[in-house]
Amino acid sequence: MTPSTLQQAEQSALRMSRLLPVLSALFLLLLWSTVVETLSERATFARQRIHTEQHSWLNQAVRGIDTRLQALREDILLYREPGDGLARQANGLYPLESGRLWLVDDISQAQLHGEPQALDNTAQDNVRQLLQQPLIDGKLLVIDANTPRDPERLQIVVPQCDQGGCQAALTGHVRFSELLDSDLLADDPHILLTDSSNNALLNHGNSPQKLESYLENKLLHTSQAQAELASVPLRLSVHLPPVRYAEPFVLFALYLIGAATLMSGTLVVILLRVGRRLAFILQRSEEVNQATQLLTLTNNSLRDRLRKLIEEQRDQQTLIDTVQVGVLLIDAEHKIVITANEAASRLLGYTRQALYRRTLESLFTSPLQYSQLLALLQEQQQLSEREVELNTRHGERLWSVLSMRALLFRERSAYVLSFVDITERLLHAQRMEEEKQATERALSQLQSTQHELYQRATCDDLTGIANRRHLLSGAGKALELARLDNQPYSVAVLDIDHFKSINDQYGHASGDVALQRMTQFITAALPAEALFGRMGGEEFAITLPGYGLNEAHALIDNIRQGLAAQAMQIDSHTLHITFSAGVAERKRHSNQLSELLKIADHAMYQAKHNGRNRVESAFQAPDSAG
Ligand code: GH3
Ligand code: MG
Ligand code: MG
Repeated sequence: MTPSTLQQAEQSALRMSRLLPVLSALFLLLLWSTVVETLSERATFARQRIHTEQHSWLNQAVRGIDTRLQALREDILLYREPGDGLARQANGLYPLESGRLWLVDDISQAQLHGEPQALDNTAQDNVRQLLQQPLIDGKLLVIDANTPRDPERLQIVVPQCDQGGCQAALTGHVRFSELLDSDLLADDPHILLTDSSNNALLNHGNSPQKLESYLENKLLHTSQAQAELASVPLRLSVHLPPVRYAEPFVLFALYLIGAATLMSGTLVVILLRVGRRLAFILQRSEEVNQATQLLTLTNNSLRDRLRKLIEEQRDQQTLIDTVQVGVLLIDAEHKIVITANEAASRLLGYTRQALYRRTLESLFTSPLQYSQLLALLQEQQQLSEREVELNTRHGERLWSVLSMRALLFRERSAYVLSFVDITERLLHAQRMEEEKQATERALSQLQSTQHELYQRATCDDLTGIANRRHLLSGAGKALELARLDNQPYSVAVLDIDHFKSINDQYGHASGDVALQRMTQFITAALPAEALFGRMGGEEFAITLPGYGLNEAHALIDNIRQGLAAQAMQIDSHTLHITFSAGVAERKRHSNQLSELLKIADHAMYQAKHNGRNRVESAFQAPDSAG
């Protein structure tokens, strides 16, 4: 929810919080006024209904009473007949239970109709007052005449008047209940005869009650002069039982009040809930306001930090773009390129947009190498200096040295991949390798040539042992060392016996082979420090550093014996070669090599002279030795 939305909600909530109680109060007022009005209407209606019923009952009662009274009047008037009319002598009127009136002026008649009952004084006064009224001749008057003994009693008067006034009256008593129809004597409705002060005069029901009066003096309806009879202000009242009419009204009122109460309660509950909700919204709004203020306070510093971060990021991007190392940022989950620098775009031949979301695997020439590198990276979290072959957009191979590292980029796992193009370096290395191999071949050739030259320079072509020059050179150096170290040093000079005859007998080629075999035998028999060389033809010399004369003599003689004992198979021939040798030693004979060789050579000739196949040591010590 945005602050503006919250502000709107807050304003709405405020308006609602002010408006709701007013609206609710108005609604409740309207509701309860409607309830009161409805109940009032119902009460009025009920009252009207009661009035109507009462009116109906009264009319019915009055009609009944009028009918009875009319009958009574007609009966009474019979006694007014002229002549011996009984009325003239009448002095009492006797009521009967049947409600009919009998005028009795003969005491004997009284026996027949019951005991005559004389009017009491009050009744007689009433009659006398009536008789003083004008123009009431023959009219039936009904007067209240109740006594404690007979509360329902009425006095019936029919005045007997002539020109001189009313002198006599036919009068008697009748019960009120006898004037009513039997169906009007029930308790419901309850019909009462009251005086002008609503005191019950005749009550055929239970206890006397005060009731509203309706037809004042209605009972005197048959009397034309009723208005002048102030002494008989009688009223007939009908009392309907209130329960019959009150019950539906009370039930209706209860239902209506209950429904209104329910609605009011529901409204109050809704009001409470809405109020709580509004309070919550206002509270939230207050909190948001506080938070907004806090945000506003921190906004500036955050904006500054953001600006610095953007500048730093731009600097980093510039730096990354400046370097010649290709840099790719890879989404670790999907293995796709998130971002790339300028060098990566240039080296791989893609635009940055084209590199974006390209799979890392598609950049590798070998899927196997890709999966191996990835597995290694996931295991070690970083790789460094791996030579890989990448694909460029143009389908060329890009040899690279690649490093990878896992990191968190914007709270996502990522790999940063950096690589440099080593294609040129590889080509250079390849060229260098080729040059190196060529050089090595040339060097080897040179060494071979040098070796050959050296061999040629130092070795005898036929036998492979040292030639004369090399022998003399090596022998001279060894002699000098021996002299310096004061060590013994002997030389031996060998000459093959009768070699000419071998050549002659078996051929020169066989002689060459014999020379080779002999030199091989002697070489194998000599110690490592000895130097064996061909002086020329079939003459050889051996230098023996560390050997005294006798030791050298013994060694050479041992070799001589061995050679002489060996039969050489050359072609189809078996040869035996011997040599004669002379031995000389430095300390005994000379420190000069040439001199020493000469002495040894002399000794060799001595051996020849002594019979060949011999070794002779030089005995004489020349002056130069020592
Ligand atoms: P002596 O016992 O007195 O030494 O008799 P000799 O026959 O060995 O002596 P001489 O000096 O008369 O002969 C040497 C021969 O050696 C002559 C020569 O033909 C032969 N000879 C020298 N050099 C070679 C060589 O390289 N090959 C062959 N096959 N023979 C050679
Ligand atoms: Mg010789
Ligand atoms: Mg010889």
